[in-house]
Amino acid sequence: MEFAYTEEYHLLRDTVRAFMESEVAPHVDRWDRAGYFPDEVFRRLGEMGLLGASVSEEYGGTPLDALGQAIAVEEMARISASVAITVGVHVGLVCPMIVRYGTPEARARYLPAMARGDWLGAFAQTEPNTGSDAAGIQTRAVRKGDRYVLNGIKVWVTNAEKARVLVVQAVTDPAAGKRGISSFVVETTWPGVTVGRNEAKLGLHSSVTNPVYLEDCEVPVENRLGAEGQGLRIALEHLSASRISVAAQAVGIAQGAYEQALRYTTQRKTFGAFLVEHQAIQFMLADMVTSIEAARLLTHRAAWFRDRGRPFTAAASMAKLFASEMCQRVTYQALQIFGGYGYSREYPLERHFRDARVTTLYEGTSEIQRIIIARELLRAAG
Ligand SMILES: Cc1cc2nc3c(=O)[nH]c(=O)nc-3n(C[C@H](O)[C@H](O)[C@H](O)COP(=O)(O)OP(=O)(O)OC[C@H]3O[C@@H](n4cnc5c(N)ncnc54)[C@H](O)[C@@H]3O)c2cc1C
Repeated sequence: MEFAYTEEYHLLRDTVRAFMESEVAPHVDRWDRAGYFPDEVFRRLGEMGLLGASVSEEYGGTPLDALGQAIAVEEMARISASVAITVGVHVGLVCPMIVRYGTPEARARYLPAMARGDWLGAFAQTEPNTGSDAAGIQTRAVRKGDRYVLNGIKVWVTNAEKARVLVVQAVTDPAAGKRGISSFVVETTWPGVTVGRNEAKLGLHSSVTNPVYLEDCEVPVENRLGAEGQGLRIALEHLSASRISVAAQAVGIAQGAYEQALRYTTQRKTFGAFLVEHQAIQFMLADMVTSIEAARLLTHRAAWFRDRGRPFTAAASMAKLFASEMCQRVTYQALQIFGGYGYSREYPLERHFRDARVTTLYEGTSEIQRIIIARELLRAAG
C-alpha cells in the first residue's frame, strides 16, 4: 500500500489552489453577500480544462480520473463551496451521463461545448413531491413518433438558470415502476422549458438552484440517454460516482474552516495567552485535523476503487456520509474557536458554516447513505 500522491496529483492540487487563491478568494465573500454567480470563474475554469475533466479528448475534454476530480473539487471548496458544487454537478454528474449513455448525435452536439465550459450542465431529478424516493417522480415523457413530449415540474435544480443542458428524469411507462423511468437531454432554450427563480438558500449563495417547468416540451428521440426504462439506473449509477465529489466538497469546506480557525488561534489572546496555547483549543484543533484527514482518506479510497474499475457504491456512500457529517462538526468547532466573532459576517467563517449544512442533504441525505451502505453490506454478507 502506497500513501503517496504522484507528481501529477500534486501539480493538479497546486494549480487549482493557486487559481482559487488568486482569482476567487479575494472576491468570494462579496459575491456570497450579493448572491452573485461568477460567470468569469467558470470561463477561466473552462479555459483551464477543468470543466472538461470527465470528457474524453475526442470531444475536446481534458480527462482527469476520479481521484484527480476529487482533489480539484476539494481545492475549489476550500475557498468556495458554490464554485465546487457548480463544477461538481457539471463534471461529476451531467457530462459523464452523456459520455456513457448519449447517442453519437448527442455526444457530438453537447460534449465539446460542455468541455469548453460554454454550456453548463444541470441534473433535474427532484420534484416537489419526491426527493429521496427517486422512483416516485411524476414528470411524464410520452413518445410521439421521433419525439417525446415532456410535462412536469422539477425543483432544486443546481445550475439550471445558467445551464444550457439539462438531464431530466421522466416516466415513460407508468406501469413499469422504477423500470419505467427514462433520462433525456433537454436544452433550456427549447420551447416548453421555463426556469423559475433562484431559491433563497441558507448557504451556497453563489450557486444557483431553480425549479424547472416542462410544458409540452418536445425532445428528439436521439436525446434519450440509454434505453427506455434505464433512466433510474443511469441516475443512481452516476449519483454514486458523484457522491465522491460531494465528499470531496465537504472535505474542502472543513479544510478551509480549519485553516481559518488555526490562524485565528495565533492572533487572539485570552487570559494572557494566545488561544493556541490553551490545551482545550489544541485538542479541538487535533480533533478537527484528524477527522478531516479520515474523511479525505475515505474519499480518495472510493475514488481509487472507481479508477480501478472495482465496485465503489458502498465506499462512495461511506465517504459521503462520513465527510458530510464531519464537515458539520468541524465547521461548528471552527466557529466555536472564533468565539462571538465566528458569528459575525465580518469573517468568512460563517459562510463555511452555512455552506457545510447542505452536504448531508443533497445527492442523497445521510439517512439514504446509511440505507445504501447497509444494503451493500447485507448483500456482501449473502
Ligand atoms: C442546495 C440544493 C441543491 C440541490 N440540487 C439538486 C440538483 O441539482 N438536482 C436534483 O435533482 N436535486 C437537487 N437537490 C435536491 C436534493 O437531492 C434533495 O433535497 C434530497 O435528495 C432530499 O430529498 P427531499 O428534500 O425531498 O427530502 P425527503 O426525501 O422528503 O426526505 C425528508 C427526510 O426524511 C428522510 N428520509 C427519507 N426517506 C427515508 C427513509 N426511507 N428512511 C429514513 N429516512 C428517510 C431524509 O433523509 C430526510 O431527512 C438539491 C437540494 C438542495 C438543498
